[in-house]
Amino acid sequence: MAETEEGKRSIMGIGAHPDDLEISCGGTLAAYAGHGHRVTMCHVCRGDKGHFRLPPGELRQVRCAEAGAAARLIGAGVVMLDVPDGEAGSDWAGQRLRVVEAIREAKPDLIITHAPEDYHPDHVAVQRMVVEAAFLATVPYVSPCREAIGRVPEIRLMDTYAGVNFVPTEYVDITATLAVKQAMMESYRSQVDWLKEHDGLDILEFIAVGARYRGFQGGCRYAEGFRKHVAGLFIRSAPILT
Ligand SMILES: [Zn+2]
Repeated sequence: MAETEEGKRSIMGIGAHPDDLEISCGGTLAAYAGHGHRVTMCHVCRGDKGHFRLPPGELRQVRCAEAGAAARLIGAGVVMLDVPDGEAGSDWAGQRLRVVEAIREAKPDLIITHAPEDYHPDHVAVQRMVVEAAFLATVPYVSPCREAIGRVPEIRLMDTYAGVNFVPTEYVDITATLAVKQAMMESYRSQVDWLKEHDGLDILEFIAVGARYRGFQGGCRYAEGFRKHVAGLFIRSAPILT
């Protein structure tokens, strides 16, 4: 994996809704940040629909503030692409271009995004969009905005909700960062309430149990699971298998 001139990597999480990255890879992003790597959290949708009482205009502002508070806990940058909830993929070329430009800005060595097996249509659309945008970010004439990046970043797919239909091939030990992952999620007061009311889900318990379950698989106390996205031009060679 390429490194920045300071010897540190640029890590970019790209999730559909503000809180998806925190739930599925927050511990890993916190670990990267803790090791001095540059972390960017990109939320494609504005998170304006997930509430019973707050109307979309108001919730959009709340989610934006919550995303900022969560990112500040690990010193990450935040990028909001402001697509209405439920409409990821509705203007495919236009939204994909926004992702291309966000990738060019962050210049990531590694992108973490959703898995195609996930349950939410916005998650699935964003996964496909990110894979396409990661390649197109290297093609100069795709966008006049910002210089094309030099090569396609590596991509890791993050766990689905409750791990359904997802078999990780890599595990990150988040034992040291579970508490900050939980705190990041607690920043989303609107979503702690929404998930309880809409899905009967205690999201903080959900995060702890999921991390413990992946920890059993990964040989540590708490873990997050990932799978490498494998496609032509995304593959890096190594001198020998390890
Ligand atoms: Zn989501």
